[in-house]
Amino acid sequence: MSVAPGAGRARPLLVATRSSHKLDELRTLLRLPRAHLLTLSEVGIEEEAIEDAPTLRGNAILKARFYAGLSRLPTLSDDSGVEVDALGGAPGVRTKRFAGESATDADNNAKLLAELGDLPPGRRTARYRCVLAYLDPGVPSSGERPWVTTRSGVFEGRIATHPRGSGGFGYDPIFEPATEPPGGRTVGQMSPEEKGRVSHRARASRAMARHLRTRGY
Ligand code: IMP
Repeated sequence: MSVAPGAGRARPLLVATRSSHKLDELRTLLRLPRAHLLTLSEVGIEEEAIEDAPTLRGNAILKARFYAGLSRLPTLSDDSGVEVDALGGAPGVRTKRFAGESATDADNNAKLLAELGDLPPGRRTARYRCVLAYLDPGVPSSGERPWVTTRSGVFEGRIATHPRGSGGFGYDPIFEPATEPPGGRTVGQMSPEEKGRVSHRARASRAMARHLRTRGY
């Protein structure tokens, strides 16, 4: 009988994000009873990865490599963003800083609404995308080839005409899932449980959790 590595005891997993929202969502979504999730501050890492890759996938890999290298711990990173068709896929990798280096969520939402102006619903289509990368520095081959959720983490929708709801974070008050009619509920008006069934991070997390279970989590 084969036993998964680390079976029966908690296995550390560094979550390479400083976003408490992302951390909370990931903790709930991954549902890995054997994982002991650690934050960057819990392991004393103050350095910041420079997210200069041209794609979300590239940034997720870069962050996993950077923080696994510093911590020598198995590391999970998340890079995510929103892609708006009328803006040619922008803001994409610039989602967090769309309205400037120290932009707040409200600044970013206001800029996106202003850029789309009064475009009709059919031209406001967009998607959230989440890429998760896992890297175990204890496994030499993993360092070169982190395990990445490339296609799974997509959540289709459209940008609302004005913000609604105070749930979630980021662009949630202006993101209407494709399953809603134009002017229907935004993600900001959904419960965490509902978002956790359908979001880009939920989809990517399901794929990642399946992989992590094969790694002893
Ligand atoms: P990064 O992955 O830390 O580079 O930043 C991703 C940015 O995308 C966040 O700061 C949010 O603005 C946005 N974002 C990612 N996931 C979500 C989500 O689930 N809801 C709302 N905004 C999100």
